[in-house]
Amino acid sequence: MDEKNCQRVCEMLSSYIDEELSKEDCKNLEEHMASCQTCTLFYKKLSTTVKLSRKLECSDCYEMPNDVREKLREFLKKECKCEK
Ligand SMILES: [Zn+2]
Repeated sequence: MDEKNCQRVCEMLSSYIDEELSKEDCKNLEEHMASCQTCTLFYKKLSTTVKLSRKLECSDCYEMPNDVREKLREFLKKECKCEK
């Protein structure tokens, strides 16, 4: 699997989780993940984190502070092995 694909998949994953991708993009992404373990693992981590952070943001009694949100973003960036 070539690295350009992985990088593209990484960039598209957050939109994929938000269901903002076109059907064609979804299909390409799913096809790539079916044959790429790195991206599948990253997707699993990302979706868990995104869902968790949404849950926290949605809750009335908890608002995520900006610095925590920022750290989360940095963490995700580091986790993405597809970046150079
Ligand atoms: Zn990949």
